[in-house]
Amino acid sequence: MEVPACGPLWGRVIAGVTRRIERALVTGGMGFVGSHLCELLLAEGSEVLILDNLVTAAPGTVAEFGNRPNLRVDRQDVTEPITTPGPFDVVFHLASAASPQDYLRLPIETLRAGSLGTTHALDVALRDGARFVLASTSEVYGDPAEHPQRESYWGHVNPIGPRSVYDEAKRYAEALTNAYRGHRGANTGIARIFNTYGPRMRPDDGRMVPTFIRQALAGLPMTVTGDGAQTRSLCYVADTARGLLALGRSDHPGPINLGNPVELSVGDLAAEVRSAAGSESPVTFVEAAEDDPRRRCPDITLARRQLSWRPEVALADGLRRTIDWFEENTGIRAAHPA
Ligand code: NAD
Ligand code: UDP
Repeated sequence: MEVPACGPLWGRVIAGVTRRIERALVTGGMGFVGSHLCELLLAEGSEVLILDNLVTAAPGTVAEFGNRPNLRVDRQDVTEPITTPGPFDVVFHLASAASPQDYLRLPIETLRAGSLGTTHALDVALRDGARFVLASTSEVYGDPAEHPQRESYWGHVNPIGPRSVYDEAKRYAEALTNAYRGHRGANTGIARIFNTYGPRMRPDDGRMVPTFIRQALAGLPMTVTGDGAQTRSLCYVADTARGLLALGRSDHPGPINLGNPVELSVGDLAAEVRSAAGSESPVTFVEAAEDDPRRRCPDITLARRQLSWRPEVALADGLRRTIDWFEENTGIRAAHPA
């Protein structure tokens, strides 16, 4: 399906543009998804500058990224104006708390990252004539009434519910990005990222994958919320990073879904993690989260057509790699022989 024209630049989009990225600015590059995107950019020969205030940075990344050639990390809160000298070819804007536990703990900061942070990142892109990529989210669809979610769906979000600080920050960020495109001539792209998992997630970030892995490895009860029938669609982080890079290289305005269309229930995911970890942890059902979306699954027709992108890593393989990383890097070891 095609997204309707959004802004005057639409007509000038050149299908299949492959931008060469000499220098990239990545806000939130010390986080989970951002760090994988930076790895990819570096591997492709780009020079990378990260702006990050480290509020929810991925574990070990500070040490790991300390001495990489072509990589610089500036500790900065992007809600302050960005005066970093350019020029950059692409600005990837990822700075924002992302896990429900983090954004519920940092509600005002999350709204500010989505509003002021996005303004400042867009201003850098405009200054340099750079391509701008917004890391938006499937959360803009809220608890969706349409399934699977296509980019044309407007969403079903409670503007004053607990999740609204994140959902509405991203919806505002999308509106702002679109306005910079339509009214200031910025070359922008919006990625709506669906649940992503993989190495470098913080074991205590509260999201289901790191929580289930931590619990399974430690032999603790695995805490499934509600009846566990709610669904998510899980994309391995290398796939998500590749999709963001493809959007950065293109001139597509988006919004464009990046996610894995294989949908499964949270209860089934807990069982998959338990089995992959060789664990005997019991699965327990705990209180449902407020306003928890019941279903989530991307339609990725647009990403396939416009970016030639689709996820490549199957869940079993991705879980294996993630569990291995947790065992090697977090000090959490299997309590049960696998
Ligand atoms: P993360 O929390 O691991 O990384 C976010 C990074 O942004 C952290 O390093 C944090 O320190 C930094 N940051 C936060 N506020 C900042 C600020 N004001 N100034 C500077 N740096 C700041 O989260 P993630 O999972 O890597 O998500 C990255 C982006 O992708 C976010 O914008 C998120 O909304 C989006 N996204 C992620 C997922 C997912 O499943 N991981 C899904 C949808 C969208
Ligand atoms: N969830 C769960 N147990 C946990 C953490 C999360 O059952 O320990 C559930 C959560 O209530 C939601 C789903 O897993 O239904 C996905 O939650 P996550 O925080 O990973 O992502 P999001 O809600 O942002 O999609």
